[in-house]
Amino acid sequence: MHEDWTDGAVCRTADPDELFVQGAAQNQAKSVCGSCGVRTECLAYALDQRIDHGIWGGMTERERRALLKRRPLVTSWRRLLEAARQEHHRQTGPAAVRRAG
Ligand code: SF4
Repeated sequence: MHEDWTDGAVCRTADPDELFVQGAAQNQAKSVCGSCGVRTECLAYALDQRIDHGIWGGMTERERRALLKRRPLVTSWRRLLEAARQEHHRQTGPAAVRRAG
């Protein structure tokens, strides 16, 4: 299934093997995600689909497993992460700065 967010993936042109590494190499692989504009969508997809291998949205499979275990009642990570992102923008965006100033 094609997800439209994949068009904006920084790793789209990278070697897929770079994101499916083990051990210490995962930290370097995660750094690719730092500048990715679709990180939230990517992470939400991996969590909602229970993808259990590779780096997605800057998190390793182990980190995602731990997150899923901590929040077993979340039914849509996409909805949850999107709401969190909107709230963050509301608090830190230009309108929030104007209100604070
Ligand atoms: S967050 Fe990382 S794994 Fe996901 S699309 Fe972006 S670069 Fe690729």
